Amino acid sequence: MKKTELLYEGKAKKVYKTEDENFYIIEYKDDATAFNGLKRGTIHQKGVLNNKISAILFALLERNNIPTHYVKKLSDREMLVKKVEILPLEVLVRNYAAGSLSKRLGIEEGKKLKTTVLEFCYKSDELGDPMINEYHIEAMDLATKEEVETIKKMSLKINDILSEYFLSKDIILVDFKLEFGRCREGVILADEISPDTCRLWDKNTMEKLDKDRFRRDLGNVEEAYIEILKRLGGI
Ligand code: UDP
Repeated sequence: MKKTELLYEGKAKKVYKTEDENFYIIEYKDDATAFNGLKRGTIHQKGVLNNKISAILFALLERNNIPTHYVKKLSDREMLVKKVEILPLEVLVRNYAAGSLSKRLGIEEGKKLKTTVLEFCYKSDELGDPMINEYHIEAMDLATKEEVETIKKMSLKINDILSEYFLSKDIILVDFKLEFGRCREGVILADEISPDTCRLWDKNTMEKLDKDRFRRDLGNVEEAYIEILKRLGGI
């Protein structure tokens, strides 16, 4: 399948139309941003690593009956995906306190939460992706009530599948972000799942193996992404 027109260029990915109107091609870039674009940089080979990691995780989810936009990996940096209309929502799934949750609620980073926490943010760079709840989603007509129910169920199931899988690789899935899209099949998982969008800690050393190494200037950023791909059997 060939790329035709560039449809959208985001912070970490480009999305292209293809010769077939039902499919898009995603190309993963090495660019990295944090704090709503305030911190910018590049992480050597990140696009290649995230494409491979995302492909492994989407394939795992598909095998576990989670409908996703993933079709196949096309090259080192590209994957073929189903065309969807991305819902303007970010779904955050949290198993341990970290990042903005720790700051907002004063919970020490690394504390296991008694139950999994789901949060919604409104996707808007201008507004800095503000947190919203189900009432806002309905009032702003961002998704239907039925879609929100599907998204909540799918997010919790995805969390179970990924948490167990990562743990089998000695990795703790601390938290992550999901995005969903509408297509003929209904609402399906879209976007990416990678160390850019997950917090992943080594189970034994608690070392951070994700984008926090870039956000917090911890060094060895590329090495951390390589370590994740290695543990997932991709190298
Ligand atoms: N996250 C993301 N994109 C965003 C915001 C969050 O991928 O725009 C991910 C982030 O990597 C982390 C989880 O969602 O794994 C929870 O993020 P948090 O709100 O704690 O983000 P922070 O503001 O600390 O980056």
